[in-house]
Amino acid sequence: MPDRLFKLIAEEIADSGPMRVDRFMALALGHPEHGYYMTRDPFGRDGDFTTAPEISQMFGEVIGALFVHQWQCMGSPSRFHVLECGPGRGTLMADMLRIIGRLAPPMLQGARVHLLEMSPALKEKQEAALQAYDVSWHEGLETLPDDAPYLIVGNEFLDALPVRQFMRVDDGWRERVVTVDPAQSGSLVFAVGDAAYDTGLPQDNIASGSIYETAPARIDFVQKILSLLQRVSGYSLWIDYGAFAWTAGDTLQAVARHEYVDVLHNPGTSDITAHVDFAALCAAAKTVSGITVHGPVTQAAFLKKIGIEERARVLPDAQTGLHRLTHSDEMGSLFKVVGFSCGGMFDDSGF
Ligand code: SAH
Repeated sequence: MPDRLFKLIAEEIADSGPMRVDRFMALALGHPEHGYYMTRDPFGRDGDFTTAPEISQMFGEVIGALFVHQWQCMGSPSRFHVLECGPGRGTLMADMLRIIGRLAPPMLQGARVHLLEMSPALKEKQEAALQAYDVSWHEGLETLPDDAPYLIVGNEFLDALPVRQFMRVDDGWRERVVTVDPAQSGSLVFAVGDAAYDTGLPQDNIASGSIYETAPARIDFVQKILSLLQRVSGYSLWIDYGAFAWTAGDTLQAVARHEYVDVLHNPGTSDITAHVDFAALCAAAKTVSGITVHGPVTQAAFLKKIGIEERARVLPDAQTGLHRLTHSDEMGSLFKVVGFSCGGMFDDSGF
């Protein structure tokens, strides 16, 4: 029932008033029954969108090889954890583990593999892709063990964590909200909330009507990862689309069947994401003691430094994938990569 979630959202608005954008996004993606990710496998040509690991095995292979290197930098521990956040179909982890097994069999033996995934439908896909390995699934960070160092990766995960939006009005900033418009036969529309906000948003030279996004859930998530790294040491890599520096603007977008669609139309049937503000992530990381920030750099620069062109030379039919992953008209410049590590033994390869 595609309009079930719409009805639930309209009911919540009728009961509690206009809804914050982060609440809307969390429900549209993660409502336990009707959320977008909870019910389907959205990837690939027949799905709604295609991600880097689904474009080419080289993506996971070169990241796997980088992880072998960072494991060696750690002193090749015989026991450690590998975590992927939001693994989709499990393709990236499968490609990484295959290469790790080839390059460093003792590393594969020592790895405890963990996947952070909220979607039962995608967990099934991951089980199929990774049946050769012993894997544990987690719905939140709380259940992860903290008895050994971590190597962590997240591709197109942070963009799915909910954002808040604020709109500039004459006398300051107001929260942007979602409400029901009786004049438009009850459809969902954006509106401007009543309460003024002073949340450290820029005050000067902002044109009226400008939108500013913050991502408290994303910052909170990354801070929890960093505190895990602080406790047990480790290295984490985050790949997503977004800008190096903050710019004003509404980056919320919805995609279904490889086309942009209206964010508020038929919630639960399209993938809603927002650009990752890499400057905000790095600023948050710099406040955590002992954390080293690697990058950020563009996906193209990163993948080339860790050897994707060399890999493409020896794989058949790899040129199209290489182009899509690294060309600036494709994913090469829009996507960025940042690393956060703790423990001092990791190097800056790729950055
Ligand atoms: N990394 C994969 C999939 C990206 S899509 C790829 O590159 O192909 C986002 C993934 O994050 C999906 O697996 C989705 O179910 C998961 N996800 C989104 N929000 C989440 C949350 N709050 N907690 C756990 N998993 C989440």
